[in-house]
Amino acid sequence: MTRYIFVTGGVVSSLGKGIAAASIGRMLKSRGLSVSVLKLDPYLNVDPGTMSPYQHGEVFVTIDGSETDLDLGHYERFIDVELTSLSNVTAGQIYTEIIGKERSGIYLGGTIQIIPHVTDAIKGHIKALAEQSGADVILVEVGGTVGDIEGQPFLEAIRQVRGDVGRENTFYIHVTLLPFLGSTKELKTKPTQHSVQALRSMGVHPDAIIGRADHEVDQDVKDKIARFCDVRPENVFGLPTLDSVYKVPVHLEEQGVGSTISKALGLPDIEPDLAYWRHIAEIEDDEEDPLRIAVVGKYVELHDSYLSVAEALRHAGFHHGKNIQIDWISSEEIEEKGPGKLLGSAVGILVPGGFGPRGIEGMIATATYARERNIPYLGLCLGMQVMVIEYARNILGLPKANSLELDESTDDPVINIMEGQEGLVDTGGTMRLGQYPCRLRDGTRAREAYGVELVKERHRHRYEYNNDYRIRLEEAGLVASGVAPDDSLVEITEVYDHPFMVGSQFHPEFASRPEKAHPLFREFVHAACNILREGEQFELPASENENPAGSDGHGLEVGTLASAEE
Ligand code: GLN
Repeated sequence: MTRYIFVTGGVVSSLGKGIAAASIGRMLKSRGLSVSVLKLDPYLNVDPGTMSPYQHGEVFVTIDGSETDLDLGHYERFIDVELTSLSNVTAGQIYTEIIGKERSGIYLGGTIQIIPHVTDAIKGHIKALAEQSGADVILVEVGGTVGDIEGQPFLEAIRQVRGDVGRENTFYIHVTLLPFLGSTKELKTKPTQHSVQALRSMGVHPDAIIGRADHEVDQDVKDKIARFCDVRPENVFGLPTLDSVYKVPVHLEEQGVGSTISKALGLPDIEPDLAYWRHIAEIEDDEEDPLRIAVVGKYVELHDSYLSVAEALRHAGFHHGKNIQIDWISSEEIEEKGPGKLLGSAVGILVPGGFGPRGIEGMIATATYARERNIPYLGLCLGMQVMVIEYARNILGLPKANSLELDESTDDPVINIMEGQEGLVDTGGTMRLGQYPCRLRDGTRAREAYGVELVKERHRHRYEYNNDYRIRLEEAGLVASGVAPDDSLVEITEVYDHPFMVGSQFHPEFASRPEKAHPLFREFVHAACNILREGEQFELPASENENPAGSDGHGLEVGTLASAEE
């Protein structure tokens, strides 16, 4: 029998409900249970793929190519699961589905209503995930805050599930804010009381409450919440703001959240093994000797836009026992001040994905700086395209080289629009999305990092490396180290004559886990660990200076994979 845990939010948004849900998933997974997760987003967009980073933060891409809420990234990382389009349902999708059916006459002339049509459609998605994943536990997080008009059908749907599958198989958790009043120095419970009242007026009676606060939550505050919200005192938990999200599972576990849920749902309550999570918390507490990595992008003031990138860097740090400090650098600021001023203390530089021309010249200058000074560089999607443009301009001597996305009239479009992407009218869900295979070329850093020949990685792009320049770029030392199995697309490039300058057309950050750093991030951070920056002096250990493919030239047969050139 599948068990269902529902997580709702109260008082304010941005409470870290997704982290709380992901942490609950981790606690159950560490008890040997299989867990899958569903995020219900009440907004009317079909998916966040077309939303601005200012509105939504990162768009997380699943293996099957759906563009989803960034909470799916938390779930994948904390629970170590691969989710699909089944795990993110928006009101936009529900209404599109229902109106499509109405137009094709499926309702046989009936009146279409929120109850039962919308609520049944929502429940249909919950059931579909339960059936297809076969998981012991389905965690369902309802986006937004209780009281939002658009959230009501979703709350009604999750209310009905208790009646459908039985009280003993459902557990409702409400995550709320406990504001701290500086004048009286106390955490206030009244907003939580009101939020629970609003939830109960919808028929959802929470079994547990997690109170988020900027301070530890004392027992008397928990008791008060229990009394006023009609929840058992042992089912009220506190979650203070912690300095690392990876501390949340242990913090909640120590208060008994995992065991309370397991007992309520009749699940085996064995002692979970969270040793690794304790270990990584210690690494992150090391403030003495952090490794400084610069992330150079267009939206660096919005860290959430690059959430998975930041997390993947931290995971690579865990692997090497290093606390990573990210310096967020605006590429436009680099255009104004030059890279030297802003990148002077970084031992590794990462240029993440992005769209449009703003700040691009700053990114190109960053790539030049990293290449000329042997500073480890990792380019992701746009960051890889930037690396190709930089190489073409400065090594091939093509000063106008550019991407067609950034300069439609460039003489040298080293980054081209992909076949099938030209003239698309719809912007939603039309990029090259999701997982595709990539063949790694022997003797390259990419092949060494992964340790296997064939990998699958997730994509989200419209433009690609232009094969017309492949032989020239390879001869000049920019190696195509990963290609589509039919050799039609270049997926990874690397500068052979550099400690680590690798760019991937895909997004490795989505596949990284705290317990399993992604190979490209792992090797990038490894190279960064080996850089000593004293003034402008860089010392590389001898082994790092060695060409992976031998000492004379890069040892790769230039153009062997470049059939598209012929
Ligand atoms: N804008 C580039 C493209 O569409 C890169 C996309 C990205 O970085 N995700 O190809």
